[in-house]
Amino acid sequence: MEPKNDMNICNKCVLPGTFPGIRFDAEGVCNHCRQAEKRRETLSQQKARYHQKFLDLLDRLKRETRNTQPGTGFAGSSYDVLLAYSGGKDSSYTLTLLKKDFQLRVLAITFNHGFVSKQALENIRIITHVLNVDHLMVSPNPKLLNEAFRQSIDSDLYPLKALERASSVCNTCMNFTKSILLKYAIALGIPLIAYGWSPGQAPIQSSVMRWNLSMIRQMQGVMGHTFKHLLGDDLSPYLLGESEFEKVKDSKMQEGIFLFNIHPLAFLDYHEEKIIEEIRSLGWVDPKDTDSNSTNCLLNAFANQTHQARYGFHPYASEIAGLVREGHMSRQEGLRKLSVPPDPVIVSQVKERLGIK
Ligand SMILES: [Zn+2]
Repeated sequence: MEPKNDMNICNKCVLPGTFPGIRFDAEGVCNHCRQAEKRRETLSQQKARYHQKFLDLLDRLKRETRNTQPGTGFAGSSYDVLLAYSGGKDSSYTLTLLKKDFQLRVLAITFNHGFVSKQALENIRIITHVLNVDHLMVSPNPKLLNEAFRQSIDSDLYPLKALERASSVCNTCMNFTKSILLKYAIALGIPLIAYGWSPGQAPIQSSVMRWNLSMIRQMQGVMGHTFKHLLGDDLSPYLLGESEFEKVKDSKMQEGIFLFNIHPLAFLDYHEEKIIEEIRSLGWVDPKDTDSNSTNCLLNAFANQTHQARYGFHPYASEIAGLVREGHMSRQEGLRKLSVPPDPVIVSQVKERLGIK
């Protein structure tokens, strides 16, 4: 029999008693797990529905917007899809799926925040080379980003709700990434924006999502509200300008063929070992210099440590709980990942570079 829970960690997933708003029942199971059991559809039904939604979208874009000229992508763009490519395992795998399985014209784009592991940069080169994918690297000036990261650590930039799924530093990085992706997709007229979110990182409901103008304005508002007073005009390259807003308002958006967010790992099979096996066969190498929850980012260890100390729970607890709850990872493996202490050498290097005592 399962030992009784001491109310510290859920008996089914890995969420701790320190997670905001968590409640445990008499069997030591958390409210998030119980909520998931009440779903109307089974997980596989839900996945099948979103998978079909994605296939229908691709069909529609192919049918209505792909030119007969060779080299032309969806909606008259040169590419079908713009992928946020960090070089980590999940986005590397997503790139192989988009290119090989779905046969899409992919432009991969990397937001280089200055703390990408050397091996991840090498993985980006290897994978884009092997798959013959065009690749862009966006590297903002370090003064701007280091200030954004320092403020993320020192001040309360985000509401607790945003911090349930990711550290403050990760939130900042994601906000910049999303804004850059949006800006480039609009500028280049690429109708699909793809992310390699794991099934625990983002809800399946957002895995095939159409943008509208008010959503774009709202997202830009959050970015401006969070950073404008800290970064001033240096932030402008990462926000949409009026000319980009004009482009968004054009007929393609009215016709419903522009612009969509997709994160296919939410509705496709997800097994970490299989993913790593597949990308290793293409030449991807596991970085040795990142923490156990990231395969590309050196900032992560310090961000996790700060978050854990401040809020009392690991910023990856929610993502890993989702993977465990949905059977993508064993509970034991999840607990192991959350208990690996950050590498003190990486943490002190990051602190030094950010100028934090
Ligand atoms: Zn639970």
